Amino acid sequence: MSPKKRNGKKTGQPDHPAFQCREKVLMLGVMQNTPLVLFGIPFHNVTFEEAIQWTVDRVRSGKPGVIATANLDFIVQAQTDVGLRNVLREADLVIADGFPPVKLAPFYGPPLKGRVTGSDITPMLAARAEKEGISIYGLGAAEGVAAKAMEVLKKRHPALKVAGAWSPPYAPLDKMDHAEILRRLAEAKPDILFTAFGAPKQDKFNHMHVKHWNVPVAIGIGGTLDFIAGIQTRAPAWVQKIHCEWLWRWGTDPKRLTKRYVTNIGFLIRAVWLTLQLRLIKNVPARVDPSASSHGATYCEFRGLETPAEAEVFVQKSESSAKLVFDLRAVEWLSSLEIGALLEVSKKVQKVVLLHAGSRVRKLFEFSKLTDRLPIAGSCAEALALLQ
Ligand code: UDP
Repeated sequence: MSPKKRNGKKTGQPDHPAFQCREKVLMLGVMQNTPLVLFGIPFHNVTFEEAIQWTVDRVRSGKPGVIATANLDFIVQAQTDVGLRNVLREADLVIADGFPPVKLAPFYGPPLKGRVTGSDITPMLAARAEKEGISIYGLGAAEGVAAKAMEVLKKRHPALKVAGAWSPPYAPLDKMDHAEILRRLAEAKPDILFTAFGAPKQDKFNHMHVKHWNVPVAIGIGGTLDFIAGIQTRAPAWVQKIHCEWLWRWGTDPKRLTKRYVTNIGFLIRAVWLTLQLRLIKNVPARVDPSASSHGATYCEFRGLETPAEAEVFVQKSESSAKLVFDLRAVEWLSSLEIGALLEVSKKVQKVVLLHAGSRVRKLFEFSKLTDRLPIAGSCAEALALLQ
């Protein structure tokens, strides 16, 4: 969002003031795809092909990871569900399963490359899995549906390795028989786990176990097993093309979905209104605390990040043990990419606090519930208190 104030300095260079922290910074970790943060939720800017390649690479690496297929409903639920918010912020890959994030992204930073739906990527992953000799497992949906869906995929792709399928009895997350599910997964040893418990249950489930199981990729896919098994019919292609798949689903299951869609439409209206306000209102800069740079925590002047490559370098250069104060006085606005970079840094270091945020950044952060990860301090003393 413009206008941006960068004080005419080039950003992204290792010797740029954006990196001039008083403590030494270290190069850490491998290259990551810095997400674009929209309404507090990170979205990785990938195409179908890139997400599929990521999955194959992850399977080859053997390091367990999770994918979330986030749409407007996720964003809305995450506003009140701090658990889901954190699960999405910790996910290894979050793909944009819906038009609202794709359409709104250009107002907040770089555009998203496109919609990458769970319902479409699941059969595509099955096709690629067959070619790569990778095994899959269907978990969730009503009794027998996961097995039926795996059967359908196996028929389409005869060489596909189906490691197993199970539809556990419906139960809230804390009442599920986790031990039994984990036992079955340990026995089946799938490479890709399709978890279909609906959001947020499936994503919380994957997040709970990813650090302890040996499943290389677990992806939450909502009602996709129902579509593959033929229990539910997806909207025709022309309905999908005019962005009305949600309307189709609403029509086919109004009892269950009316509350969800009414809430989501309400949020969307508020989000569009916020977007308009942020473009129209004048930024009121924060009052500058002259003692800002003279305190113990690592103090960094944040001068903006223009490209994903700059964001990657910025994230990699943050020191894992540090407590960081980012002074925002030089920037009027934070793009979705800049927030993504700051969020990534906050995951690596002990604590991040923002100082001297103008009124527009404050408004966006409050609306998006970003202040729980990236708190905004009004003064240096407050920043130091927040770092404790
Ligand atoms: N489901 C489940 N266990 C539960 C609740 C739901 O396995 O406790 C399944 C349900 O049968 C359906 C999917 O999870 O197959 C949820 O689909 P929903 O339409 O809610 O997901 P969406 O695609 O909208 O995220």
